[in-house]
This record gives sequence, structure tokens and C-alpha cells, in this order.
Amino acid sequence: MPDSGARLLEGGPIASEIRTAVAEDVATFTAANGRPPGLAVVIVGRDAPSTVYLEQILRGCTKVGIHAEFVELEGEATEASVAATIRTLNADPAVDGVIVQMPLPPTIRLRTVIDAIDPAKDIDGIHPLNAGLLRLGYDGFLPATAHAAVEILRRSGIEIAGRDAVVIGRSAVVGMPAAFLLVKEDATVTVCHSRTRDLADHVSRADIVIVAAGRPGLVTGAMLKPGAVVVDVGINLVDGHVVGDVDFASAVGVASAITPVPGGVGPLTNALLLTHLIRAAEHQATTRRALAAARQTAPSPRPTAKSGVTAAHRGDR
Ligand code: NAP
Repeated sequence: MPDSGARLLEGGPIASEIRTAVAEDVATFTAANGRPPGLAVVIVGRDAPSTVYLEQILRGCTKVGIHAEFVELEGEATEASVAATIRTLNADPAVDGVIVQMPLPPTIRLRTVIDAIDPAKDIDGIHPLNAGLLRLGYDGFLPATAHAAVEILRRSGIEIAGRDAVVIGRSAVVGMPAAFLLVKEDATVTVCHSRTRDLADHVSRADIVIVAAGRPGLVTGAMLKPGAVVVDVGINLVDGHVVGDVDFASAVGVASAITPVPGGVGPLTNALLLTHLIRAAEHQATTRRALAAARQTAPSPRPTAKSGVTAAHRGDR
């Protein structure tokens, strides 16, 4: 705990607990299905920072017994080739989850790629179907970072219901889903962005502040309401150091609880992604079993013509 008394909300210990539970789930799934859950990570062009992040995910998978692999598109990948690769993975019964390295090269439209992912394998919640389910308050797949930003509050016993929250950032993968999750937890939520007129004024009234802007030092202690809880999602490289969007040194003296960067939301994001994969694997296995059972119990096809020729006899599929 820092000198000021603000509680440090560390993601590492929570992530370890989650990983232990995931390893048990993986063992159960593997015993029941004769194969481990499978994750495919589609890589379109090598982008160093995001590849480092994805390699962490791969290592995390291996540790708990998940089969994970990079599917790399060599050379000049096109929208069509990326979409075709994703569709092949959608059809592969050994692949339960698909994630795509971001950012994509500028020649490839994000929407085309997102639309190609089977929503049932979209474990990072980027497909419009999953985004829509979240918007309506139903249980689809959540973007893992937004999930982690709110889960760290819940698992740390921070009260959310009835409290005033500010989310800084309105991206489809972090800011907006985090805001919808807070609303689902009964917070009163304000979403701020680059056109917000007086950011400090909004922040000064918030009991909970989630910052996901990608701007180092955007939120300082002077802006915070005393006792506010601060979740810093930002990851920025400054002078060779990873820092968040919050000026930790000043914020820690005003906040009642704060996530460090690194070591806060990041580790939890990776662990939660594994739980999403297990859920996808179990759901697809259940669906496949139900389909197989339905096929076995289905009545044999009735003759469709007086001649007694059925579709099956004709070899139609
Ligand atoms: P993004 O797509 O660039 O979105 C940034 C958002 O911040 C936008 O909505 C933007 O507003 C807003 N913003 C920018 N400058 C602002 C300012 N001065 N005042 C108020 N709002 C401002 O970024 P993202 O993908 O959401 O990621 C946000 C941060 O989270 C980045 O630092 C990223 O590296 C980090 N991140 C962390 C994890 C993790 O696991 N911890 C995972 C993913 C991302 P407009 O909409 O008006 O442009």
C-alpha cells in the first residue's frame, strides 16, 4: 500500500486466482472432449508492441494447457485473404476462439475483418452481435480490457451501484463497453472524450474514474474528488517506461484506491480472455453434442415421391 493510504488495486493476484480456476476447467474440458480448448491468433503484418502482447497471451495459454497458435498471413495480406483465413478458423472444430492482432494495416478495413469472425468464437467481444448484446445488457462476449477494468473493481469489493462514474475514452473496445458494464452494475455513468468541454469538472464529481485515453498524465490528483477510485487502463511508453494515463504520483495522495500501471488492468485482461475462451469452448461443445444427438434421434427421411426415392437416396446433401 502506498504511503498516502490509497489502496493499490493490483491485477496480478486476481489474475493468478483466475488462472488456477481456468487450469481446472481446461483439464475437465480436455478429459471430456479428447482435446484441449483451442485459440487462434490471426497476425496480419508484424507490429512489434502488439506482437509482444499476443506472445504473452500465447504463453498464458500454454501454462494452463490451452492449445494456442499464431496464424500468420505472409506478405501482402488483403481484406479477402484475412476474411478467408478467419472463415477457415470459424469452420475448424479444434479452434474455439479467434482473436485478430490490432491495429490492422491501413489497407484492411476493420469492419470487414470483424464481420468475418463467428460471434461464437469472438472471445474478445469485437463482433457487432456481441457489442449489441452488451448494449442490451445480455451476456455476450465482452472485450477483455473493458471487462478487466470493471472486474478489478468488483473483485476488490469496490461498491459500484449508485455511484457516479466517469469513463474517459469512447472506443468500441475499451471506453464504451466499460461504460455499458458500469451501467449494468447500476452506476450513473458519464462518458468523456477528446471533445468534452471541461474534463476536470466531470472528473471532480466522480466516485469512480476509468481512464482509457492513451494520453499519459491526462488525469492528475488535483482533478480527483478526494476518496475517488481510479482505474487506469492506459498503456503508454514514455522515456522507455510503461506508464498509464493517470499521473500516479499526484493521484495516489487523493484517491482511496488506484490501479498501478503496469500491474493493474493488464494482467487481469489476459486472464479474463482465457475465461472467455473456456466459455466459448464449452458452449460450442454443448452445441455439437446436441446436434449429434438430434441427428441420431431424428426420424428416417420419408419417401418424397411415389417411386420411393428420397433426398438421401438421390445423394442430395
Ligand atoms: P483509442 O481507440 O485511441 O481511444 C481513445 C479514446 O480516448 C477516444 O475516445 C478519444 O476521444 C479519447 N481521448 C483522447 N484524448 C483525450 C483527451 N485529451 N481527453 C479526453 N478524451 C480523450 O484507444 P483505446 O484502444 O480505447 O485504448 C485506450 C488506452 O488503453 C490506450 O492507452 C491503450 O494502449 C490502452 N489499452 C490497454 C489495454 C490493457 O490491457 N490494459 C488493452 C487495450 C488498450 P475521441 O473518441 O474523441 O477521439
